Amino acid sequence: MAENKIPATLIPGDGIGPEIVEAVVEVCEALGAPFAWDRQLAGLAAVADCGDPLPLPTLESIRQTGLALKGPLTTPVGGGFKSINVTLRKEFELFANLRPARTLIPGGRFDAIDIVLVRENLEGFYAAMEHYMPLDHDPKAIAISTGFNTRAECRRIVEYAFDYAVKNGRKKVTVVHKANILKALTGLFLEEGRKVAKEYEGRVAMNDRIVDACAMQLVLDPWQYDVIVTTNLFGDILSDLIAGLVGGLGMAPGANIGENAAIFEAVHGSAPDIAGKGVANPLAMLLSTELMLRHVGRLDLAQRLGGGIDAMLATGIRTRDIGGTAGTRDLTDALLQQIR
Ligand code: ATP
Repeated sequence: MAENKIPATLIPGDGIGPEIVEAVVEVCEALGAPFAWDRQLAGLAAVADCGDPLPLPTLESIRQTGLALKGPLTTPVGGGFKSINVTLRKEFELFANLRPARTLIPGGRFDAIDIVLVRENLEGFYAAMEHYMPLDHDPKAIAISTGFNTRAECRRIVEYAFDYAVKNGRKKVTVVHKANILKALTGLFLEEGRKVAKEYEGRVAMNDRIVDACAMQLVLDPWQYDVIVTTNLFGDILSDLIAGLVGGLGMAPGANIGENAAIFEAVHGSAPDIAGKGVANPLAMLLSTELMLRHVGRLDLAQRLGGGIDAMLATGIRTRDIGGTAGTRDLTDALLQQIR
């Protein structure tokens, strides 16, 4: 019924975006997902329409709905346009970046991987306070970068990770840091991590790892990890590492989450080389939708979608990027068969 619908902004995006977003819309309908989509433009499509890659009506829609599913966007090169993703992150203070990775196709490098990485999205070395100092005749003899972490943000991101664990039936959160060397910058993160963990004692276990040891263990024994929470730069690196454990960025979903808005997207780009050919793989976008369903508390539908994706892949159907011959339509139909 219309009154139970959850308003959500839908941005088809550029390149293959409209094709894979259409697959999502169909699948959501078949699932009975409660989203009332408000379609908005961004990226090259918006530049063609009104000269602005992030038009005000799109921002206003996200402000109203607090929820968006976004196809891949291309920030136009030249013309002085700011990165769309960075603008969205700042505009809506999207403090958490969520990057889950689970084995979808058995027989790859690792089977049965199921890790969720939560990355702090606003602070650390991404503050980009950088400059050079001259020495002798070299104006760039010394490069300096200053990072910062605030206690409030450390707390907020760790709380988000523990809260995510509780709501999604996860058992352990690992706080990843480098507090032995960056004693202030990531020591504060660990300190807050330990405090927050006490509040969840008995519900979610906590341990901590130094980032370099974590990177090694992720390759040697990734099954020991459940939810990982870490600072901005470490999260950037480790999120791609865990995507690599399950076959790369091609099928990786992601979300950027704030107090008042959450934006869900595929990690891959707009793939202009295959746009309009009907061969794009919609799985990353569909997995982002699974995350979105979890975010709005519809674990039942998220599990049906996730289970449907597993069952569909178990039939052996694959798009070209993962070694098959199926097109976007074939894959979508195969998934619809599983979830109906
Ligand atoms: P952008 O500038 O938007 O990031 P890009 O081409 O640099 O675009 P991707 O869009 O991620 O980066 O594409 C990298 C390669 O992966 C391309 O060859 C593309 O065709 C392929 N690719 C990316 N996403 C998909 C997908 N969903 N299905 C099939 N192939 C894909």
